[in-house]
Amino acid sequence: MEPHAVNPWVAVAYLIAGICFILALRGLSSPATSRRGNRYGMIGMAIAVVTTLATHVPRIDLATGPGLPRYDTSYIDLASMGEILIAIAIGAVIGLTTARKIQMTAMPQLVAAFHSLVGLAAVLVGIAAYYNPAAFGILAPGGLDILAASRIEMGLGVAIGAVTFSGSVIAFAKLNGNMGGAPILLPGRHVINLAALVGIAVLVGLFHRDTPALFWAIVLLSFAIGFLLIIPIGGADMPVVVSMLNSYSGWAAAAMGFTLHNTAMIVTGALVGSSGAILSYIMCKAMNRSFISVIAGGFGAEAGTGGSAAATDRPWKRGSAEDAAFLMKEAENVIIIPGYGMAVAQAQHVVREMADQLKSHGVGVKYAIHPVAGRMPGHMNVLLAEANVPYDEVFELEDINGEFAQCDVAFIIGANDVVNPAAKTDKASPIYGMPVFDVEKAKTIFFIKRSMGGQGYAGVDNEVFYMDQTMMLLADAKKMVEDIVKALAD
Ligand code: NDP
Repeated sequence: MEPHAVNPWVAVAYLIAGICFILALRGLSSPATSRRGNRYGMIGMAIAVVTTLATHVPRIDLATGPGLPRYDTSYIDLASMGEILIAIAIGAVIGLTTARKIQMTAMPQLVAAFHSLVGLAAVLVGIAAYYNPAAFGILAPGGLDILAASRIEMGLGVAIGAVTFSGSVIAFAKLNGNMGGAPILLPGRHVINLAALVGIAVLVGLFHRDTPALFWAIVLLSFAIGFLLIIPIGGADMPVVVSMLNSYSGWAAAAMGFTLHNTAMIVTGALVGSSGAILSYIMCKAMNRSFISVIAGGFGAEAGTGGSAAATDRPWKRGSAEDAAFLMKEAENVIIIPGYGMAVAQAQHVVREMADQLKSHGVGVKYAIHPVAGRMPGHMNVLLAEANVPYDEVFELEDINGEFAQCDVAFIIGANDVVNPAAKTDKASPIYGMPVFDVEKAKTIFFIKRSMGGQGYAGVDNEVFYMDQTMMLLADAKKMVEDIVKALAD
């Protein structure tokens, strides 16, 4: 058999897995179909894993090669099926325990941690394939050497994998608070980064010649560049970074798929890589960041340094649960704007209860979701879906923003940056240019947060606190909405 001839059944199985992954992405694009999308993803992954395991012994006829093989071909299999199954079981237990324990608010750092594992896996597979290519079926005919093209792809795969690994570790440390969120700016960082990237490209190009020193230089330089790219990025821009790293992890897997001649890895990697890139683009737009600067790194260096601190000496009005219940019961329509604080308080269920009560009084209720509300893409959609909020009551920023001018009550619960008009008016603000909800156009605004001092993610004061039509409802979001629900029932 030819070294890389593909068993037709394997090709068909991988094709079905690929179709499942595409259907998964399609399903995940809307909260209404996301569960089905997840199921497709699981089925696709199960097909891919079982197929790979069933065929994991490479079919290469080493005996036909002239002379002694350059590589140790005394064993072909890296691991027995038993060892592989034990590793899968350990991974499954860790994954299940983490998924059960993780708080929704800690999701971004979990995602960063998982991306680091994908990057590390690409590097480790690259090392294993480099030192035992026979086990991966990538020896050139004759069994003397790795195919030159495979080596270039391998170099690319380990480079992207290493960047993903070290970048994700830094992103995790920043999001998890193990490292300060402030940008660390090295002098001449753009020149250093550019030189390192050009260096990696040259080394990968040269790697068509088999030199272990070149291989390790690619690995080490790539680890360094991942670190250098992420340390200058401020905490406020981390969401985009996490999504970028998601994309990198996909490209790393795709490159390793080319090395190993594994179509499932190529297809899956390309899907993850391109969907991650599209998500990064959408998030950049939602936060008014430049996509190119994100890729270059250090784009958010100035974030969090501008804007003004909370000026609590300015006059503001405090409202009560009873005020909110009374005015909302009388309203024709209410728009609820949830944000990070709703997630912290886990107030989504009681918010739905409140909405149900309002609807029973004939009040029209809609939910307005900002693309970067909360701390991960889709954060608010997930919480509202968990509370069984009907999907047709949930609207994206561009679909509902025009309605605030006709709205009786804007009910802001734990959101802050996404309703901050400074994004439209204050050029010095770190959130300037980010599209935000026009809540100030509503007749009455209820603003739930715990204190006047506590700020949003970007750390800037919010003019809405001090507006004539605003009533601040200072309390834990869940407690406040529970009180409103009680008052509505009275
Ligand atoms: P913000 O982080 O701007 O504001 C959260 C608000 O919730 C604060 O005003 C806080 O005030 C309040 N809060 C916190 N806990 C509670 C509680 N238990 N009860 C009541 N209120 C509470 O949230 P937004 O959702 O408006 O904006 C998201 C921000 O996060 C954006 O800047 C975005 O760029 C960024 N980001 C987004 C990510 C994403 O992917 N979606 C990821 C990472 C960051 P107080 O402390 O006074 O209660």
